[in-house]
Amino acid sequence: MPPHHSQQAAPEADAGRSVPIAGLLVLFLAILLGAGLAAGPGAAAAAEPESTDATAWRVGVARAVITPDTPVWLAGYGTKREPDGKLHDLWAKALAFEAADGGRAVLIATDFQGVPASMSDRVFARLAADHGLDRSRVMLAYSHNHSSPRLGDDLVDYYPVDPAQEALVDRYTAACVETCLRLVGAALADLAPATIRVGAGRAGFAVNRRDNPEAEVADRLARGEPLRGMTDHAVPVLTVTRPDGALAAILFGYACHPTTLSSTTYCGDYPGFAQVALERSHPGTTALFVNTCGGDQNPLPRRSVPLCERYGTMLAAGVEEALRGPLDSVPARLRTAFASIDLDYERVVTEADLRQAAADPNAIKARWGRRLLAKLEAGEPFASAYPYPLHAWRLGNTLVLGMGGETVVDYALRFKRQWGAGTWVLGYTDDMAAYIPSRRVWEEGGYEGGAFLYEYGRPAFRWAGTVEERVAATVTTLVEKVGPPPAAERD
Ligand SMILES: [Zn+2]
Repeated sequence: MPPHHSQQAAPEADAGRSVPIAGLLVLFLAILLGAGLAAGPGAAAAAEPESTDATAWRVGVARAVITPDTPVWLAGYGTKREPDGKLHDLWAKALAFEAADGGRAVLIATDFQGVPASMSDRVFARLAADHGLDRSRVMLAYSHNHSSPRLGDDLVDYYPVDPAQEALVDRYTAACVETCLRLVGAALADLAPATIRVGAGRAGFAVNRRDNPEAEVADRLARGEPLRGMTDHAVPVLTVTRPDGALAAILFGYACHPTTLSSTTYCGDYPGFAQVALERSHPGTTALFVNTCGGDQNPLPRRSVPLCERYGTMLAAGVEEALRGPLDSVPARLRTAFASIDLDYERVVTEADLRQAAADPNAIKARWGRRLLAKLEAGEPFASAYPYPLHAWRLGNTLVLGMGGETVVDYALRFKRQWGAGTWVLGYTDDMAAYIPSRRVWEEGGYEGGAFLYEYGRPAFRWAGTVEERVAATVTTLVEKVGPPPAAERD
């Protein structure tokens, strides 16, 4: 079994901190009534007033609690986990950007494990209709937090078939679509003058899980031995400051799976603890997290609340390091581009493949085989490629790339080499498509590069070997559209 999915739900060591599900009812009602949405409160922190010419951006901030009030199972790990409460709330947060020329873009950053296209497409269609935000202007990011609830048809074959649970998941997913729409409306209503700055810190807890057996990591670290494999320990940071000096928002990223915990308690995992820490140390700010290319990275060692909190603290410290500066002001220019490309499968499954899978002792594969056989018998054709989303935004000279699915760290390293170290390379955007291996990882095989597309419900086992080439060519086209950062910025 694959590394992080092979872990069974372990009894939580710190369950005494959880609160009953019933206690979440008020919060959920607040979401339903729209009261859970709050424009980013202006911080009272005193600071130098911003010069007027540096505030040509208008930025809006909003946030909403998304912790379910019904027992929606926790997502990921290929097993059923019924919730028993929460360590802290789960959030969806939004940043709306408006440049001096009136161009807009909205980033939604959530604590979800995986947002399926069947959910995000509903959000994108409504935002286009209600706010004129075309597809290039909205990214829906999910942290890939494995202590969050199931959504729609994300990883549907991971869980035993249970009609009552499916109904809860459908209702929760529909409520979250509405929450995302209200959230964006609130962020747009909050648009106000602001300065945007960017910088970066570091945090060292992400471990390349392909190259370091989990059982050996703690001993190696104790002996002071270096760990193996590629990582991206950068913590990119973007700040939003109001003309009175108030820090309205901190956007930060990190390349690592939020899989420290595998309990039955809702929580934001290490990104959740980092957000809590930053909002505590900067009262009035909204902290938003995006997972960069952490597809092959795990927080190791793991599986305890103290470790999870420690990684959150380490990440928050990386953000604080960036906040101490120097931070670069971002000129108020905005360009956006988007493409949905047909990412080819190696080959589409046959009826014989599915019959074999349906009898497989692996429950996930067996459920997938049975479900797809039923589609085949109903005459539903299988596509030979998957519609895969790619974004490029340029804010001033800062390039922000958004990629669907679980991108491995090679993509971040490649695009930062290509477009500059200040480039943000977000994975886990718009659609939990599947693992997106680089050519290297595809050739090596294993979980992130091998025959595991069935886990995502796709009608194939593997991507075609051209996956990186295809993605990189499209990213280049998108970057040309928004204008590549000046060579001087590519340090
Ligand atoms: Zn994953």
